[in-house]
Amino acid sequence: MARLQILELPEGSGDDRPPFVLVIDEWDIDSLDVSNMLNDYWDAFGQKIGARGVLFVDRTIDIPANDTTTYLQQAAEETGATIGEAVRAVTARHLAEERTDIARDRDRLASHKAALLDALGMDRTRDWDDIGNAAVGLRKQRDEQGEAIERVRRLHQPVEHRGQTICWACSDYDFAGRTTDSAPVAYEQCGTLRALDVQQGQT
Ligand SMILES: [Zn+2]
Repeated sequence: MARLQILELPEGSGDDRPPFVLVIDEWDIDSLDVSNMLNDYWDAFGQKIGARGVLFVDRTIDIPANDTTTYLQQAAEETGATIGEAVRAVTARHLAEERTDIARDRDRLASHKAALLDALGMDRTRDWDDIGNAAVGLRKQRDEQGEAIERVRRLHQPVEHRGQTICWACSDYDFAGRTTDSAPVAYEQCGTLRALDVQQGQT
């Protein structure tokens, strides 16, 4: 089961909230046949939810801020107490604070998840696996659309015909006879390619 963590970054003077990295670890990449596509997708989502980046790995990532071992050792050294005493002291002192932190992290994660679900047009009851599957599905769909467009472009390829560049498909060009079966259509006049260019924002 993949885990999502927030790695907070040092806050700069221009930040209106602490910058963070979205960390997705323990992702079972083998269960997905298109793992190489996921990085791009999560990068885009990371941007959407305001993360500075997305760390996406199949192994476990321990975030130092979540590890209190060093802190406890320091506390014990400073007070001359045993680690056990330091643990109890620190625990007592920071229990309420940690509860607040946990609640805040949970709220933040919940709002990130809600933002992802909204962006995907899914209802709020879905879980992280649903989000991952939807991401894979969208990416697959996008690639299939891209391939379909490429097939159309190959069909409407430019052909040199009597000193003019014409569209192969629109002119019904016959390669063997070097003739067109219908009136030659100039390549730049190909309505299909023009429509594709408009759709892809290449006017
Ligand atoms: Zn054409």
